[in-house]
Amino acid sequence: MKTKVSLVKCAEYETSKVYDAVRRAVDLAGGMPAFVKSGEKILIKPNLLSAREPERAITTHPEVVRAVIRLLKEIGATPYMGDSPGGAIKGVERVWERTGMKKLSEEEGVELINFETSGAVETPINHSTIKSIHITKKIFDFDGIINVPKLKTHGLAIFTGAVKNLYGCVPGLRKAEYHKLAPHPDEFAELLSEIYLSLKHKIRLNVIDGIVGMEGNGPSSGDLRKLDMILASSDGPAMDTAITYILGHEPSEIDTIKFLRAKKAGETEIKNIEITGENPGSFNLEKFRFPANWYMKYVPHFFINLLGRFLWMKPKINEQTCVNCKLCVESCPVAAIDYPLVNSRKSANPVVENKICISCLCCHELCPYKAIELKSGWLARILIRQ
Ligand code: SF4
Ligand code: SF4
Repeated sequence: MKTKVSLVKCAEYETSKVYDAVRRAVDLAGGMPAFVKSGEKILIKPNLLSAREPERAITTHPEVVRAVIRLLKEIGATPYMGDSPGGAIKGVERVWERTGMKKLSEEEGVELINFETSGAVETPINHSTIKSIHITKKIFDFDGIINVPKLKTHGLAIFTGAVKNLYGCVPGLRKAEYHKLAPHPDEFAELLSEIYLSLKHKIRLNVIDGIVGMEGNGPSSGDLRKLDMILASSDGPAMDTAITYILGHEPSEIDTIKFLRAKKAGETEIKNIEITGENPGSFNLEKFRFPANWYMKYVPHFFINLLGRFLWMKPKINEQTCVNCKLCVESCPVAAIDYPLVNSRKSANPVVENKICISCLCCHELCPYKAIELKSGWLARILIRQ
């Protein structure tokens, strides 16, 4: 039997329209009672990358989360919401506020769970450079998780859907630490695959917000792309595979899909997936643009070691737009961003030290003011023809 991924059209973030679309997507995937029982405590895990408003399409829209909350309440389950935002260093309250989740939690009477204060559980993994990972302890108190990602591109992982969204289950600065230990795109994808495998038993359902997504240099500085879609599936890798296919790309271009296929975790062969609901052709999608540095995953490690300084995309802080909030300075896993001395005085804005930077692109992801641009070396410019 084929693995089901449902696809439903929804053109705007209006409460009743989003509810109807999410309900139809979940029904087509099997119906909420097939995944959650009455009386269960379920954690909803949106993508709350940083403190940005929902209209910026960087975080999961609250209306999609609201629809999932209501579906859970209807069957007698108790929903909770939680994530570990990348910018939590500045206080998670700010993130709840700006992303609309605080208002949503008050309106729907749902508790917000702070992953930063609940401790972590060390879990052994089978990764080439990392032996174990820390996962937020609180997650294991819930009967199950409903994963609610945002459909976006990602500088290092190429695409962020169901599998990548679980990186938010790693608390706080440990995320940056793992970036340091797995800087190459395929090491990072292997890590994401291992996190997925560690949490797979808790995941009941995945519902992705693709009403307005992001293409190009996501996950925070890309271009908004109206896609008008909600998808649902109990199988996260199958959902990511179906989305990649629907957006006009070959699923095996995504390293997490490749790793999970090798580990036989979830369904990653499009021929074994049934897309129910709308016909993907009816969306009339032009080819979805992946990040400019998509080519990095094809570059062998020895080549990077040899020609790395000509090849990598490096962040550059734009002095005109930087407001000096220091979020990037405090979040860089290798302390590559600082205030160098200029004529014996500290520079007014932070500067990236390219020799130290490992191109994890965390700063690009986190800057709330789009003040971090990506610059490519000459070899990278040839490879991506820009
Ligand atoms: S580059 Fe962005 S994150 Fe860094 S200090 Fe400036 S505004 Fe803040
Ligand atoms: S400067 Fe930015 S891209 Fe470079 S290591 Fe630090 S956070 Fe990562």
